[in-house]
Amino acid sequence: MRANRRRDTAPEIALRRELFRRGLRFRVDYRITVDPTAHVRPDIVFTHRRLAIFVDGCYWHSCPIHATMPKSNVDFWARKFARNRERDLRDRTLLEQAGWTVLRFWEHEDPTRAAEVVEDWIRQRSSR
Ligand SMILES: [Zn+2]
Repeated sequence: MRANRRRDTAPEIALRRELFRRGLRFRVDYRITVDPTAHVRPDIVFTHRRLAIFVDGCYWHSCPIHATMPKSNVDFWARKFARNRERDLRDRTLLEQAGWTVLRFWEHEDPTRAAEVVEDWIRQRSSR
């Protein structure tokens, strides 16, 4: 269904390792049922905090820095990338409507920096 979202990519593992090192515990490969007909499977999920994290591949998700367009079958790929962006937006909207917070990172982002963002978000919620 979502062949372009490969699991356990190197950037994803790096972020998970960094989060774990900071004492944070989370679920991977966790399917969120947002309504009876829609499921979203983020890369990292903090179930109790309703925090969903995605680590997006620069190629498949058209990162503004590294996105490249294949030289052949341009129309096919343009449509495919556009669908991926639509799906990303759909997933975010579904999750947010169901009361989740969504954090997205690009695979080129420093995992230490990404982990800081996640930790800050959690700490802010905890101190309320
Ligand atoms: Zn990138």
